[in-house]
Amino acid sequence: MIGTPYGVLVLGGTQDARELAGALVTDASLRVVSSLAGRTNAPLLPPGELRAGGFGGADGLTAYLRTQRIAAVVDATHPFAARMSENAVAACAAAHVPLVVLERPPWQARPDDRFIDVPDATTAAEVAAATGRRIFVTVGRQELAPFARVADRFVLVRCIDAPDPMTLPPHGELVLARGPFAYADELALMRTHTIDCIVAKNSGGTATYAKIDAARTLGIPVVMIARPARARNVSSVVAVASAARWVRAKLASGAVAR
Ligand code: NAP
Repeated sequence: MIGTPYGVLVLGGTQDARELAGALVTDASLRVVSSLAGRTNAPLLPPGELRAGGFGGADGLTAYLRTQRIAAVVDATHPFAARMSENAVAACAAAHVPLVVLERPPWQARPDDRFIDVPDATTAAEVAAATGRRIFVTVGRQELAPFARVADRFVLVRCIDAPDPMTLPPHGELVLARGPFAYADELALMRTHTIDCIVAKNSGGTATYAKIDAARTLGIPVVMIARPARARNVSSVVAVASAARWVRAKLASGAVAR
């Protein structure tokens, strides 16, 4: 269809995804569609077109790519959004649409950090209960359920939106807040609640790193949940600018679905 702009789908829900959409919309020959899961109240919105809600699995996404004439996909979802990422790999293969993953590198422990690496939230809750008496949990509301079983510890929970009350630990406090968070504020929060252990997902990036700096200052352990495994053989980049270059190169090379 002559004159129809190429569609680029950015699977989002992250700051990087918003920045990428901002970098791509400057090109009038591109139709930039950002996709959100649609579960956060009042999400920060990217520039360009927006769609929200699940596609209906890999098959639904495949159909979407075809009907919307999407020519390239950037998976800029959070590193823990494993199902969406798997679906993107399957759908892009089925629809013959090139895919790249935009993923911040994981945080690496510095010599003065006290990371305790764990594979999942269930293990994190067990390890945190065995490690601290006043625990700061920053894993997001979807992963809270295992912490509801931490009965004899004070648990400070921080989420963007209010979690299901059934997933809240019996003893503690809930803080609703959205990053980025500043070092001084994280330190003050942890001192106010005399936190002696924190639980985090290894998200990478800077927006939520201040808690790691604050934990280092306080000399307290960080129970760090490792990222889920990614599919192999998928191209990946770590910077927004690299993802934007990848999109332009794919479209310029003509390696796009028609
Ligand atoms: P997930 O477990 O991988 O995805 C579950 C299902 O939600 C997917 O199968 C898909 O439904 C739908 N979905 C997820 N991301 C979507 C997107 N960007 N656009 C359209 N549908 C999407 O994902 P999650 O861990 O629940 O994360 C949901 C969203 O929150 C993602 O956009 C992610 O970037 C963001 N986020 C997640 C975390 C985290 O820690 N997990 C942290 C910050 C932000 P269908 O199968 O029906 O297509």
